[in-house]
Amino acid sequence: MSAAVPVPAPPQVDPAAAREMAREAAAWCALHGLVVGDRADPRSATVPGVGLVHAPFSLLPAHLPESVWRQACELAPIFNKLVDRVSLDGKFLQDSLSKTRQVDDFTSRLLEIHRKMVEINKEENIRLGLHRSDYMLDLETNSLLQIELNTISTSFPGLGSLVSNLHRTLINQYGHLLSLEPKRVPGNVASSKFAEALARAWAEFNVDSAVVMMIVQPEERNMYDQYWLTNHLKESYGITTIRKTLSQVEAEGQVLPEGTLLVDGKKVAVVYYRAGYTPNDYPSEAEWSARLLIEQSCAVKCPSISYHLVGTKKIQQELAKPNVLERFLENKEEIAKLRKCFAGLWSLDDEEIVKTAIEKPELFVLKPQREGGGNNIYGLDLRETLTRLQKEGGDALAAYILMQRIFPKASPAYLVRGGICHEGLVISELGIYGAYLRNKDKVVINDQSGYLMRTKVSSSDEGGVAAGFAVLDSLYLTDK
Ligand code: ADP
Ligand code: MG
Repeated sequence: MSAAVPVPAPPQVDPAAAREMAREAAAWCALHGLVVGDRADPRSATVPGVGLVHAPFSLLPAHLPESVWRQACELAPIFNKLVDRVSLDGKFLQDSLSKTRQVDDFTSRLLEIHRKMVEINKEENIRLGLHRSDYMLDLETNSLLQIELNTISTSFPGLGSLVSNLHRTLINQYGHLLSLEPKRVPGNVASSKFAEALARAWAEFNVDSAVVMMIVQPEERNMYDQYWLTNHLKESYGITTIRKTLSQVEAEGQVLPEGTLLVDGKKVAVVYYRAGYTPNDYPSEAEWSARLLIEQSCAVKCPSISYHLVGTKKIQQELAKPNVLERFLENKEEIAKLRKCFAGLWSLDDEEIVKTAIEKPELFVLKPQREGGGNNIYGLDLRETLTRLQKEGGDALAAYILMQRIFPKASPAYLVRGGICHEGLVISELGIYGAYLRNKDKVVINDQSGYLMRTKVSSSDEGGVAAGFAVLDSLYLTDK
């Protein structure tokens, strides 16, 4: 790799000092609610307050040039606007996903709900998006490239905010050993900004007795990340949040003739999905009925079915085609900024690229239309899968997209998991949260809303924290 290395290596801490810091840090996590349910305790995913363990974290923040950080922050409001614009073009969504639906039952079910909403001309006056755009800094080109844009159930606004505080605390305490300055860790407002956006959507809905309904999985070890938002909503805005699974909504929910969503006798102002993004969340028809019921109501949906579809990997690939952004945005500078962060993305009806990917699989990632980690295909598996799908013929290839593989710089770091400090070569993925709220013609919020840094050992292909691949991290801004 020939290009200049932009990110300086983090300072080395000797292993004994690192272990001591890790103990302090783990205690800090327990004291400040930087916790998740412990896999070892079967009740930890269903009973709050039982079986807690500190969230996995990186001992020190990941280094990132300040200019890259600014570039990523600037993109957030543009992506927010883009999602809103694309969501309004029902035909674009249906056409772009038409081949995918034939081979992917999950996408097909989502599109069916979307089609029904288009058919009845369903209006969504209050539109709330809580997104996260994820990036890696490609070492060879020194460019910030987007991994994906999440429009549903973006996780870790609660816990991610705390990691910045943890790192500042550690640097305050040990900074003299490390030559690090706490002020170079940017404050992280994700938790309060997401709560504020939910609260303002609730206020636009304008029914004092109404609640926010969080759609959750029946078992959720990441519940404290969610409870942080619930807590902000109550303490700062006096708003009550109820937690329901999709099957509970099916059993307890109804839509009144004028559109009000009632669940368990309560009026719902805002439906905030922290489930519903994977086929596993729809084990029976009951869950699909609940999703449809919510969509038909006048409650604010975060996200609506169309916002959800805009976040699919197929739409990401379609938006990267020449002249497609221009259909949705008029400002040329904004278009150029977005395009600059697009990695190579291809659909598999491009025979040339399929051939190249079979020859050099290490340069690509093969992605199905799934969220939540653990689904991508790399290396020899990628070659085998493409070869097999090609032989099978038909439309099977349409279930996937191909993406240029991004190679960030690997640096030494300490990762702490279950109270144990491991040293490793790691790479990081930067997520920038964005909040968007519009009521008819009035854009109430369009902001960058904090960040999430996730770090994983460089030998791991996947990236999810909940899925067990990565740890939570924060940022240390450098001059270069
Ligand atoms: P998911 O919806 O499962 O989160 P992603 O597209 O974010 O899907 O991929 C999961 C993980 O795989 C990412 O967090 C990242 O670590 C890795 N990854 C995805 N795309 C690329 C890529 N183009 N180059 C390198 N790593 C990638
Ligand atoms: Mg992802």
